[in-house]
This record gives sequence, C-alpha cells and structure tokens, in this order.
Amino acid sequence: MPEDDVNIIRGTCRYCGQTQIVSFSASQEEADERAAQKCDCVGATRERNRQRRVEQAGKNIDRIFGAGAAEYGQRTVGGRILDYLREAAELMAGDVCAGDIISDIRITVPDVCVAILSATSKGNVKISRRETRVRSLES
Ligand SMILES: [Zn+2]
Repeated sequence: MPEDDVNIIRGTCRYCGQTQIVSFSASQEEADERAAQKCDCVGATRERNRQRRVEQAGKNIDRIFGAGAAEYGQRTVGGRILDYLREAAELMAGDVCAGDIISDIRITVPDVCVAILSATSKGNVKISRRETRVRSLES
C-alpha cells in the first residue's frame, strides 16, 4: 500500500491533552476518541471503567427484565421501559461529584414487577427485580 494511502492523524486525549498517533482515522474527532480510548491517564481510565459498568448494567437489565426474563418464566417488560432502565443505569454509573449521587431508582411496572437499580460501594449498578406472587385457597 503506498504511504500516501495511510491516513495518519494525531489524536488528543480529552482528559489529559496527551497526543498519540492514530492511523486510519476518518476524522479528527474520531482520532481524539481513539486517543482517549488508548490513553492510560486517570480520566481516560475512569471513563473506560464507567463505560464498562454501563455496558454490564445494560446486559443485566436485558437478563432480568428483557429476553432473559422469559428463561425464568417471568414476564418481559416493554422496550420503552428497558430503554429507560438503561438510561437510569447510565446516570447512576456516572462519575459523579459529591452531592450529585443517585443511590437507587425504583420503577413500578404495573402488574409485572418493581425494578430496582442501586449503586454499590464499588460504583457498580446492581439490578434487582421484585415480584410478589400470592396464591391462596380457602375452603
Ligand atoms: Zn489521557
């Protein structure tokens, strides 16, 4: 491949300002994003950890309220509610300042369950589902 075809761009980490050579980048914005993904600074590492927590929370939401619920014989919740739960998890997994912390969010889905998202001390988001089933017989 001729050297002219290689599009080498320097990307700048938005957290520390360090630049890195990022090849095959389509745009400066993409190069900056890749630089942040590769950077070992505190801010970039924190953001990667936050994204990992958000991704894992999303998977857990799908397991407990989405497609995975049916495997346990539970009803799935609607797509709009799943989207809302994912957004809530992203808010909770954010790198927040003191006074801007969400400890838990509860959403009641009528006739289905209560969804509970709670922040753990490690900064993860715990996903819980609460259902109350009562079966009574009287003679
Ligand atoms: Zn950095």
